[in-house]
Amino acid sequence: AKERGRNAYCYYDPKLQVQNEGHRKLETQLVMALERGEFEVYYQPVVELSSRHIRSAEALLRWNSPVLGAVSPAQFIPVAEERGLIVEIGAWVLRQALTQVRTWRSAGHADIRVAVNVSPLQFQQDGFVELVERALRQHGLGGDALILELTEGSLIRDLEAANAKLVRLRELGVQIALDDFGTGYSSLAYLQQLQVDVVKIDRSFVQAMGETGPAVMEAILHLVRQLGYRTVAEGIETVAQYADLEGVGCDSGQGYLFARPVPAREFERVLAHYSRR
Ligand code: C2E
Ligand code: CA
Ligand code: CA
Ligand code: CA
Repeated sequence: AKERGRNAYCYYDPKLQVQNEGHRKLETQLVMALERGEFEVYYQPVVELSSRHIRSAEALLRWNSPVLGAVSPAQFIPVAEERGLIVEIGAWVLRQALTQVRTWRSAGHADIRVAVNVSPLQFQQDGFVELVERALRQHGLGGDALILELTEGSLIRDLEAANAKLVRLRELGVQIALDDFGTGYSSLAYLQQLQVDVVKIDRSFVQAMGETGPAVMEAILHLVRQLGYRTVAEGIETVAQYADLEGVGCDSGQGYLFARPVPAREFERVLAHYSRR
């Protein structure tokens, strides 16, 4: 496949040309986006399935470029990683998220946490733990206000070094979630060695329940729980999915059924709505 890829590259491909130009344009705009204030953080609730209470909110980055319009994170996060911009952007998201969780806690939601996505490049930086510690202190928060979401890509390259960082973060009270479980390598031997609190089951497994029924999901949840981790199912869109997941003992869920990601002000209304029920 590699050979063919190399050969294919010898031919002029107008489609590829357009793609490359698009990529360059995005890159140029992305470099300036942070200082121009073009980013905004949206929040999506994570709901405990048995009680229907909101336990946390996932911070999801949005980019509204005056030149390119709204660009999805699936498009710009990889470019930000490639260019190393994600380190600075990620630190900004963390500060925004901590500011919000402080506001929500002051407004009476005393136990709510905020979950922040961390890219592998950020996590691998020397001083990442210190950065988190400092940010918490500056916002007058304990570690129990924060969840960090990491993918396997961050952890497998050097499991021992990764675990050493995770242990220090957990000592601060920060919870660690393994994101997108089931999409990567996910060997069991490896899963049981990880210093995490929560495993987020990828949306593809929630969708698959429609065809296969909940048995596969049940087996995954059973396994993850045996290892001592709590479970969150991603991408719940229907009442049927909710019912199936609750039936097989999934702890929490996230998805459009509960709420789409929304701006911080709107999230306060989502919070108020859920705590009234
Ligand atoms: P993720 O961490 O897996 O985030 C969950 C994604 O699923 C979000 O996409 C969310 O909007 C979407 N989602 C939630 N509920 C549903 C549902 O019911 N149905 C469907 N179809 N989708 C749902 P989003 O916001 O487009 O983000 C995509 C990815 O970009 C994230 O995937 C994450 O990997 C990355 N990302 C977003 N914000 C940040 C950030 O601040 N830092 C880093 N490093 N990555 C980020
Ligand atoms: Ca995530
Ligand atoms: Ca995910
Ligand atoms: Ca994902």
